[in-house]
Amino acid sequence: MRFDKYAIADPIKRSLAESGFVKPTDIQFKAIPSIMKGEDVLAIAQTGTGKTAAFAIPIINWMHENQEKLPKGIVRCLVMVPTRELAVQITEVFQNLAKYTPVKILSMFGGVDQTPQTKGLDRGVDVLITTPGRMFDLRSQGFIDLSQTQILVLDEADHMLALGFIRDIRDTIKNLPKNHQTLFFSATINEEIKNLAYSIVRNPIRIQISPKDRVSKNVDHQVAFIEMDDKRFFLERIIKEHETSKFLVFVRTKVRAERVFSAMQRVGIETITMHGDKDQLDRLDVMEKFRTGKVRVLIATDVSARGIDISGVNYVINYDLPDIDENYVHRVGRTGRGMEKGIAVSFCATEEKPVLEEIQKFLGKPIQVLEIEKDEYKMTLALTEEPGTNWRKLIEDHEAELAKKRKKKGKK
Ligand code: ADP
Ligand code: MG
Repeated sequence: MRFDKYAIADPIKRSLAESGFVKPTDIQFKAIPSIMKGEDVLAIAQTGTGKTAAFAIPIINWMHENQEKLPKGIVRCLVMVPTRELAVQITEVFQNLAKYTPVKILSMFGGVDQTPQTKGLDRGVDVLITTPGRMFDLRSQGFIDLSQTQILVLDEADHMLALGFIRDIRDTIKNLPKNHQTLFFSATINEEIKNLAYSIVRNPIRIQISPKDRVSKNVDHQVAFIEMDDKRFFLERIIKEHETSKFLVFVRTKVRAERVFSAMQRVGIETITMHGDKDQLDRLDVMEKFRTGKVRVLIATDVSARGIDISGVNYVINYDLPDIDENYVHRVGRTGRGMEKGIAVSFCATEEKPVLEEIQKFLGKPIQVLEIEKDEYKMTLALTEEPGTNWRKLIEDHEAELAKKRKKKGKK
């Protein structure tokens, strides 16, 4: 069913159409009717499947159709997310979808001055999107009033759990009216998440999208066997071969991120990095540059990129394999978002093969191997534009080998 057939207000249909959202994704198709009916929902769907709009559309619609005067500090819907980046991103989705409605949306997160954020609460808001930490500060200072909150959304619940926000979440729930609606969204499901969910959500409608396949069907993902010291040449090659594509490159540590940054700089490729050492303003700036395509290669660590939605990422490169197998799914889920298609390639060195095994066990099936012929491998090293690289010798070696092969053939 197309969005124009939905029982949602026209101003929302208008912004959906402008965003190019014609049909709901699977999770939206299943979750929107339940949310509109006021049911509690526990939704599990892989990253990139459109979970944000799955709750934003019905929430904005409800707020639009039930407008109220908002006293100071009142929050009608509280959306809790694990990171500041996510708060920013989800706020943008809400603001965009609500732009032709009077629905008031505010976001709050730590790491920046709180005054402008508290100002926004002077007249109450329909939807507040926030990280648990900042919310608690402001609530304890009396800026936030949750006594009339009708809807609670926990987005990326698995990540919030991992970050230890569970007590904060339970604490918040104590302050909400008894009959509020709870919407619980997660990319993964395990015992711990199930327990959390069922302890806070009453008789939820459970919605799960393709639980068997952890990677979205829109992502074509492969593994290439490349030795540690050669990885940079393969990265250089793939970036140069796809001049207009956007790349998200994952590395294990911030030190590695800066190292890859320098390696790319040496061969004339502009990149930016994103990791735990960047402060909030830096991060927003980095995201903006990458989003707008000013810089088309972003090198990131796992934590910094979790949950981030950047449309139009064509390639995810696992420059290092992730230590935690679940992160594989989160990483490759950064491409092939919504209705788009994406490609993910993992560079696996000999010493990383045990990690690959683990990941494949987690996925429940092997990752397709991207075969690189021996000659092609050598050529990739030889073709680098890195100064001081002995490409001439590499090519000579390569030619010598070819000559040997020819000779062998000739003898037969
Ligand atoms: P998730 O939270 O499931 O990881 P997001 O909500 O961040 O996914 O959405 C992923 C991408 O899909 C976004 O870029 C969004 O704009 C796009 N998207 C969401 N719903 C639709 C739709 N119905 N049609 C087209 N694109 C969509
Ligand atoms: Mg999400």
